[in-house]
Amino acid sequence: MTIVASLKTDPYWWEAAPPTDMPETDVAETCDVAIVGAGYTGLSAALVLARAGRSVQVFDSLRAGEGASTRNGGIASGNIRMGFGTLIERFGLERAKSIYAEGKLARERLSAFLEDENIACDQQMVGRFAGAVAPKHFEAMRREADLLNKHVDLGVSVIARKDQHSELGTDYYHGGVVRPDIGGLHPGKFHAGLFGRASDAGATVHTSTAVQGVQRDGDGYTVRTARGTVRANDVLIGTNGYTDKANAWLQRRLVPVPSRIIVTEPIGVDVMARLMPKRRMLVESRRVGYYYRPTPDGTRILFGGREGAANASPEEVVRIHMGRLVEIFPELADIQAAFSWSGFVAYSRDYMPRLFSHDGMHYAVGYCGSGVVWAWWTGRHAAFQILGQGETESAFLCDPPKAIPLYAGKPWFLPAMMKWFGFQDRMDQRPGR
Ligand SMILES: Cc1cc2nc3c(=O)[nH]c(=O)nc-3n(C[C@H](O)[C@H](O)[C@H](O)COP(=O)(O)OP(=O)(O)OC[C@H]3O[C@@H](n4cnc5c(N)ncnc54)[C@H](O)[C@@H]3O)c2cc1C
Repeated sequence: MTIVASLKTDPYWWEAAPPTDMPETDVAETCDVAIVGAGYTGLSAALVLARAGRSVQVFDSLRAGEGASTRNGGIASGNIRMGFGTLIERFGLERAKSIYAEGKLARERLSAFLEDENIACDQQMVGRFAGAVAPKHFEAMRREADLLNKHVDLGVSVIARKDQHSELGTDYYHGGVVRPDIGGLHPGKFHAGLFGRASDAGATVHTSTAVQGVQRDGDGYTVRTARGTVRANDVLIGTNGYTDKANAWLQRRLVPVPSRIIVTEPIGVDVMARLMPKRRMLVESRRVGYYYRPTPDGTRILFGGREGAANASPEEVVRIHMGRLVEIFPELADIQAAFSWSGFVAYSRDYMPRLFSHDGMHYAVGYCGSGVVWAWWTGRHAAFQILGQGETESAFLCDPPKAIPLYAGKPWFLPAMMKWFGFQDRMDQRPGR
C-alpha cells in the first residue's frame, strides 16, 4: 500500500463539480433575510425563502460549498449519532420514535426533491451495511435492529458473519446490519444543483464575503460583512463546522471535528464486484469508525474517518486510512490513494442536529457528520420558521446547545477523547470479548 507522489489534495468530487465562486456584485443595503453560510443549510433555506417571495442574500467567506458540503462522503444517511435505544433512555419512547420517523421522512423527501427539481447528483438508493468490529457490537446491533423494526418500520436486516460475503468481500466484521432506506449521492453535484435552484429563485449568493458580526437593531438586524453592511429582518446561521469568531457565542457550543477522506486509484471491475457486490454505503460500529463506499461510477473506493488522536500530519493520516482499508480488504495491498482531503464536521454536547433561535436569530447546525440529509432538511425548516408557514413542526426544534465548559472554539480535548474512544474500541475487540 503506497501513496502516489501525485496525490491530489482537492476533493475527488471537485473534478466534476468544483465549489462556485461568484463574480463580485454589490451587497444590497437591505433584504428580508440574510443567511450566513452557503452550504446545504444556507442554500436549502434560501431556496424556500426566495420561492416564497423574500429577498435573500447568502454570504460565505469561502467559495460556495467549499465548507463541508462538497467535501463529504455523500452517504445520505440522516444518521442520529445516539442509537435508538439510547434515545429512548434519554428522551422516552415517543420522542425517540418521532426523531427516527423524521429521519425516514427527511430521506424520502430528499429523494423526491432531487427528482422533482431534476437535480442529477448520482443518487443511488443502494442501502447501507454497518459492520460490527467485535462480537459484542454485533449483539448490540441485533438488539437495536429489533427495536427499530418494532417501533419505526425501517426494514433493518441483520446479517450474520457467515452470510457477510453477500454484502462485502471481507471476513473483517463479525456480521452487521443493513438499512435499505439509506443511499449515496455525489455531494458536489447535489450542492451545485441546490445553488442553481436557489439562484434561479432569486437568492443572491456573495462568495468570498465573510460576515464579521450581527447585531440586533430594533426589530431587525445589522449584518456587517467584508463588503458592506446590510439591514435584514431575519438572519439564519448555517456555519456548522466552519463557525468562526464572528459568532463566538455559537463557537462555545459547537466542536469542529476534522475528518479526512481518501479516494483510491481505479480498481478493477472484477475486484470491485467481489469487494462491494451490492455497491452499498458502508460504516462500522467502532466509536471512532470509518465510513466508506464505492464512487458513484463504481470504479474507486472512498474511505473516510476522523483525523485521529495524535497531531498526525495529513500524510500520516492517509497512511493510517490506507492501512485500515487493507486490513478490511487485504487484496488492495497494492492499490494507491489518488485523492485525499479533509474538512470539519460539527458536534454539540448532546450529539443532536438541531434548529433553534437565539436572540431572535435562527440557527440550523450540529449534524455530527451526517449533514447531507440533515443540513438540507433543517435549512428548509429554518426557512419555514422564518416564514411562519409550511412545515413549521420538527422533532429537531429545540433549545440552543449548551456551552462546553472551558472551551472557546479550539477543541484542546479532542486528541485525548479520540485516544480514549480508540482504547475502548481496542478493548472491545480483544479475543473472547
Ligand atoms: C470529510 C467529511 C465527510 C463527511 N461525510 C458525510 C457523509 O458521508 N454523509 C453525511 O450526511 N454528512 C457527511 N459530512 C457532513 C456534511 O458534509 C455536513 O454536515 C454538511 O455539509 C453541513 O452543511 P452546512 O451547510 O451546514 O455547512 P457547510 O457546508 O460546512 O458550510 C458552512 C459554511 O459557512 C461558512 N462560514 C462560516 N463562518 C462564516 C462567516 N463568518 N461568514 C461567512 N461565511 C461563513 C463557511 O465558509 C462554510 O462554507 C461530512 C463532512 C466532512 C467534512
